[in-house]
Amino acid sequence: MKYVAHSPQPATPSHPAPVSPGPGEDPPARAAERMRHRRRDRLQMLGMVLTSYAVDTLLLWVLAAVGVIEPLVVWAYAGAGLSVCALFYVLLSSPWCERQSEQYLVVPQMLAHALINLAFIAWVPQVGGLMLMLLFVIFAFGSLRMSLRSVLLGSLLIAALVGVVIAHVGDRLALPVSGWEARAATGLWFALVLARSALLGLYASDLRALLAKRNAQLAATSEKLEQLAHRDGLTGALNRRSMLRLLDDERERMQRSGQAFGVAMLDIDHFKQVNDRHGHSVGDEVLRHFTIKVAAEMRGTDRLGRYGGEEFLLVLTAATDLGTATAAVDRMRTAVARKDWDEVAFGLDITFSAGVAVCRDGDTTEQLIGRADRALYRAKREGRNCVRSA
Ligand code: GH3
Ligand code: MG
Ligand code: MG
Repeated sequence: MKYVAHSPQPATPSHPAPVSPGPGEDPPARAAERMRHRRRDRLQMLGMVLTSYAVDTLLLWVLAAVGVIEPLVVWAYAGAGLSVCALFYVLLSSPWCERQSEQYLVVPQMLAHALINLAFIAWVPQVGGLMLMLLFVIFAFGSLRMSLRSVLLGSLLIAALVGVVIAHVGDRLALPVSGWEARAATGLWFALVLARSALLGLYASDLRALLAKRNAQLAATSEKLEQLAHRDGLTGALNRRSMLRLLDDERERMQRSGQAFGVAMLDIDHFKQVNDRHGHSVGDEVLRHFTIKVAAEMRGTDRLGRYGGEEFLLVLTAATDLGTATAAVDRMRTAVARKDWDEVAFGLDITFSAGVAVCRDGDTTEQLIGRADRALYRAKREGRNCVRSA
């Protein structure tokens, strides 16, 4: 019977499995929160558009006041901007939006604002130059969330429409520059277009930074999940499942290369007494220190895994014969026995016993581990703190 079979223990009795959701899970609360965030982002962008309309409306008022345009144009401009924003407010805050592939509706928003602009160029070409400038702002806004394809198609479409409108208004297209008030309003308009383009650029770099941060968080989380899936939570050694997979891989490699490898089953001596005398938390600490000590003595290509409670499985990939494998494990045994365990708990002495086996042609993983187990059993019977091979 296997030695380890006498003492089946949970891998980490004092450390329950992490309760965080697995990679595929999406708890409704988190999904709802993400939805709220997206909705907030969408409405934030709409707020920016509305502010932009307010700024332009104010400057158009100045131009109306100095007689460049009719006051009706200002009302119409403000009305058109407000109506489009109200429509998009309804759409962007609705659950319907969440189901769209492009949840920010950037392309439809851009087209709507560009069409308003073009309509005003056709209607009041005496301020057409100002309206044309706004197309830059609209495009800078759109490029925040647009794909390259949408940018190209959108640019082509708007360029074609601009061409049609310019052909229609001909030389009536102008910048309002007659009189110092109109010149001042035009200058201010230009400055505010520049400022908005710059602000949108800053906003875009903020978005990119946020995206980079989220990507880094995602990468860290998936690495953590990966670790949790392959490593023992208490000691950081590979877990039993990973070790068994590793053994299968090693056997396959041996079949290809013909080069054998060794395994060792390590079991801490009288570990129950450690818990009984010093408490379970000291027991846990011993397991961590033990792992670190053995790992420090291993070769770079060796692998250590926690097989059960205080039992560890070592795969010695470079040890092709029993003598080499046994000598390597005995070196680890000496290092553990000589370690100053007082730093973990006063009066503590830790040793381990080990059974070593080398993989033979045709061995199954079970047969290989079984031989190491029987050798460990002998080491225990023959006084502990020793290494035996089979
Ligand atoms: P032997 O020399 O024959 O191996 O004796 P032993 O006391 O080491 O072996 P036994 O199988 O009787 O006891 C193993 C103990 O290991 C019992 C169990 O409570 C303890 N143990 C298993 N997993 C953990 C753990 O994660 N933390 C702590 N602190 N103790 C553990
Ligand atoms: Mg044991
Ligand atoms: Mg033991």
